[in-house]
Amino acid sequence: MPLSQPDILIAGGGVTGLTTALLLAREGASVLVLDRSETGREASWAGAGMLPPGNVQLSTSPEARLRSLSHSLWPKFAADLQELSGIDNGYRVCGSVLLFSSHAAAEAAAGQWRKDGTNASVLSGSQLNDHVPGLNKSDAAAIFLPQFAQVRNPRHLKALRIACELAGVQFREQAGTLKFTVHGERIHSVRTPADQFTCPRICLTAGAWTAGIMAELGVPIPVKPIRGQIVQLQVARLPFECVIEVGRRYLVPRTDGLILIGSTEEDVGFHKANTAEGVSGLLDFATSLVPELRDAEIARTWSGLRPGSPDELPLLGSVSGFDNLWIGAGHFRAGLQMSPGTALILSQLILGNSSPIPLEGFAADRFRNS
Ligand SMILES: Cc1cc2nc3c(=O)[nH]c(=O)nc-3n(C[C@H](O)[C@H](O)[C@H](O)COP(=O)(O)OP(=O)(O)OC[C@H]3O[C@@H](n4cnc5c(N)ncnc54)[C@H](O)[C@@H]3O)c2cc1C
Repeated sequence: MPLSQPDILIAGGGVTGLTTALLLAREGASVLVLDRSETGREASWAGAGMLPPGNVQLSTSPEARLRSLSHSLWPKFAADLQELSGIDNGYRVCGSVLLFSSHAAAEAAAGQWRKDGTNASVLSGSQLNDHVPGLNKSDAAAIFLPQFAQVRNPRHLKALRIACELAGVQFREQAGTLKFTVHGERIHSVRTPADQFTCPRICLTAGAWTAGIMAELGVPIPVKPIRGQIVQLQVARLPFECVIEVGRRYLVPRTDGLILIGSTEEDVGFHKANTAEGVSGLLDFATSLVPELRDAEIARTWSGLRPGSPDELPLLGSVSGFDNLWIGAGHFRAGLQMSPGTALILSQLILGNSSPIPLEGFAADRFRNS
């Protein structure tokens, strides 16, 4: 189908690209999303949908600012999206129990969350038992974050796509390799095997693949895929309703009896797979924590490629050396959570407005000399 020339071309239709496209289209811009394959089927689909809390007024680090901005936007964004798309994305505030190896570590973590203006309580043994009755270690050191939320990724991506279409966003999937014609500091046009677009503004949101597109433009960036595997269990009755986190691993219960066990962190290139070691490690983690999960059925396994960056923070904003290029990539483990804030920042910058939060810590060229 012939496409009309857009004002803004977005390369990559994961959660970052689709949310940005939606906000731009709702501001009246004509937007085209190009995707190498299908939109919403990569890391954004694969993630666990955990949405940690934050406080915009009190957060001080770049990570906390973007997390907090996004946390403040999620409830209304989820409601708006449901109204627009007719899809309930499963956004709900479920709370999270975080387990630690010592009571001192739990106290320190709770103190840090509170310093950043977020509710956090250290749990007694009986409080921990109330949240997770079947926990193996009932005397474990733990804290509770009551404002922690979750969303169901596939539903959220589907809702975003529908809302984008209703807002007039155009799509080209299976777009093939992008080739750029650059005049001075301006990208004049973008070619695919099927189309040529003369675009005033271009935004790169291709997740773990963004470094490949930037290389075409002669700008190396250290964004690379970090594989994460997930095992999904099905139980007849949920043994707990909050998220449980132990270090970088977690259990995420859904209201229909599904429980996601995540995740691994593997530097194996662009190779999606579930391995014996990955799956058995996740099952051991879950069943040693909550022994009654030994009877759960394995519903499904999958893996996804997180867009990793050396400091685990996204590259976000304009790309120096170009006057019509922006980037939003490298969100690593937090791209779902940070998507409303990321999209608000990108859409405002692309429209010529200022960012709602300081962008210190996110510059796309911060790794240039390292
Ligand atoms: C197992 C796992 C668990 C996770 N859990 C969480 C969590 O609980 N909470 C959280 O916040 N985050 C989580 N994440 C991280 C989160 O999923 C990612 O940070 C986020 O999805 C990145 O979104 P994205 O839109 O940047 O990239 P992606 O979703 O990967 O989208 C990139 C898109 O770009 C397209 N593309 C690729 N190359 C090109 C090209 N050359 N031209 C055009 N398009 C291209 C792809 O096809 C894809 O559609 C998890 C990730 C994994 C894998």
